[in-house]
Amino acid sequence: MSILLLTGWGIFTYSARRRWKLMMIGAKEGGRFDQPARRLALVWHFAVKQLRMRRYPLAGLAHMFIFVGFVVLLLRSLILWGRGFDESFHFWIFGPDQWLGQTYSFFKDVFAVLVILGTLVFFYYRLIARLPRMTLSTEGLIILSIILMMMLADILYDAANLNLRAREHRTPGVTLAPVQIPNEAQTSTHVVRLTTLDAEGRPISVVQEPVDDPGAFETKQTGFMEEPESPLAQASPNPPFLVCEPAGSVAARFLGGLSDGPLTFLKHMGFWTHSALVLIFLNLLPYSKHFHIITGVPNVYTQSLHPARLPPIVDMDGKLERGETLGIKRIDQFSWKAILDFYTCTECGRCSDHCPATKTGKKLSPKHFTLDLRDFLYQHDAALTSATKNDNRNGHPLQEADAEPPEHHKDLVDGVIDPEVLWACTSCRACEVECPVFISYVDKIVDMRRYLVQERGEFPNELQTAFRSLESAFNPWGFPAEDRGQWAENLGVKTLAEHPEAEVIFWVGCMPSFDDRAKRVTRATAQLMQRAGVDFAILASEEQCTGDPARRAGNEYLFQLFAKTNVETLNRYAADKKRIVTTCPHCLNTLLNEYPDFGGRYEVVHHSTFLSELLRQGKLKPQRAISKRVVFHDSCYLGRYNDVYDAPRDVLKSIPGLTVLEPVQTRDRGMCCGAGGAQMFKEEEHGDQRVNQLRTRQLLDTNPDAVSSACPFCMRMLTDGLADHDKSDIPQLDFAEMLWESISTPPTT
Ligand code: SF4
Ligand code: SF4
Repeated sequence: MSILLLTGWGIFTYSARRRWKLMMIGAKEGGRFDQPARRLALVWHFAVKQLRMRRYPLAGLAHMFIFVGFVVLLLRSLILWGRGFDESFHFWIFGPDQWLGQTYSFFKDVFAVLVILGTLVFFYYRLIARLPRMTLSTEGLIILSIILMMMLADILYDAANLNLRAREHRTPGVTLAPVQIPNEAQTSTHVVRLTTLDAEGRPISVVQEPVDDPGAFETKQTGFMEEPESPLAQASPNPPFLVCEPAGSVAARFLGGLSDGPLTFLKHMGFWTHSALVLIFLNLLPYSKHFHIITGVPNVYTQSLHPARLPPIVDMDGKLERGETLGIKRIDQFSWKAILDFYTCTECGRCSDHCPATKTGKKLSPKHFTLDLRDFLYQHDAALTSATKNDNRNGHPLQEADAEPPEHHKDLVDGVIDPEVLWACTSCRACEVECPVFISYVDKIVDMRRYLVQERGEFPNELQTAFRSLESAFNPWGFPAEDRGQWAENLGVKTLAEHPEAEVIFWVGCMPSFDDRAKRVTRATAQLMQRAGVDFAILASEEQCTGDPARRAGNEYLFQLFAKTNVETLNRYAADKKRIVTTCPHCLNTLLNEYPDFGGRYEVVHHSTFLSELLRQGKLKPQRAISKRVVFHDSCYLGRYNDVYDAPRDVLKSIPGLTVLEPVQTRDRGMCCGAGGAQMFKEEEHGDQRVNQLRTRQLLDTNPDAVSSACPFCMRMLTDGLADHDKSDIPQLDFAEMLWESISTPPTT
């Protein structure tokens, strides 16, 4: 046992150290250990209670069995290792005759069986159901087999042991199960009835009574036992069923006919197989997808507490001066946390299962994005860990500009990841919300786009137009900046320059300012606020694009220009003391979650939240019934990014006569419309179909009279989707338009 343990743990320590060193080649990243109480709560919910695993109920249950089973059986493995030195080892308190030992033994057996069931579910998924989201790898099957064999070996050990113990107790003269019984003569409290076997192996009952000598007993046989009092004393060749060892007891029945020799062999086989497999399993972890057993909890703990925010490139000008890479070019430019993400991927495929790009046949599959980077990292493990001794991992060029970089420092884009993969992402976060171990994608993909755009100057042609328009007209379409406030014509809406004391800033956004269809939503929202008596004003031509499309497209430099300018403008109007309302979820996200990095901390709400508040306060009262079946589409940047799901539904439900329908893919599983991540400003990558077509199909499956959305981008995409499905007769409306219709039109009599 000493050799086994020293070898097993020695090799594991070596492997773990290698993985640690490899992780440390990653760039430094702060903000992963703050707020420990909140992080521990996340670990409790998502690593211990595994709340995300349950999004796939059967797989979640099976995984829960295996996870809890492993935790419970950890102690068992330690005990068995101890028994390699002392056969009666039980950590002093887990002995077979101690209540703690018996209780533990019961749960250990129950979970061993549950782990077996869980393993069978995953065998079924891989070998029979062949779920497309899962990879049928030999490694996965080997690991599953090892888990299964560990459990079976444990049960085999118990079964053989139970048989041997029972036979031992049937040896004549061996005392079994002493039972304290009341002393009928009331002369002593030391009367003890015992069950034992006579010379012929028959169970007999004896009584020990104290005699005059202190501490001495006289043993009297009281007769043969018709009903053996100790289960172990049964004359049957099978050992008795022990409640505290249910699985072992059942298995023991199958071995009851074996003689002592084979039983002893099986006991040793079970013991050594379990003990060795635990160590083999441990040593496979760092080289397999099951590494998540070790890295899962740390990965959940160190997850971003602000997943809706893209971390900025800090000190861009300084980086440019120093010739450092903007964005991610090489594998070691990812942070240590990104590398931990790569280690932790369980290959469950849930991310790809919900990725709109994967679902519509694009080259992007988030799971394979992670696995490709992980494989590259592992392939170049030795070179990368030795290279960091001499290199600057934060982005300095490693060699002369025209020298060919070594393989481990090669350009990831094209070298490992196809640019089409990067450009297919809509930044919808479906993958991130689904991933049970909190692996992030949008930050990595945008970081690689940043490199492509800012270093290589390579990006889809259409983005060039958007970038130019943003630079010259401060909106991605190139509409004259001075026309930004024209949508408000004849509405009597004041600008902040005219009314700086306004309590609410209506941040309109580019599309709602310029696009004819979106302007109708903007006007409806403004009129609703006026009807409710809200004291608001707009920035008009002082407002510029938030920079969201530039940022998601990888043009961080341009984004930061917008961020700084807008923050300056907003701060000039003391926006931190007001409320900002916007109809655009992309603006909401940028203003609320990303501008704090640039000195702008504001209370920003979506118009759904704001209008539902006004409805609750009785400041808005829907009048006219709208008898429609309306299906609601969740915007990614409102729902998954900012957790606003109920407010738009509340507004819709406040309208008399209106029925709100939910597609199968709804709320945080709602599918993206295909416009986010700057997709709105470029052609979609080649695939089987367009994202908006698939999403519209899902919405149409509810058989609606109208489709409602909460985002100007979604509105455009769904309107196109309805046209593609020849359903342009079905109106596509923002909930604010319907509310305004109900409020502004007198009820029909
Ligand atoms: S953010 Fe959306 S589109 Fe991008 S990889 Fe994740 S699921 Fe796919
Ligand atoms: S990234 Fe997450 S969801 Fe995707 S395969 Fe890996 S563990 Fe599963």
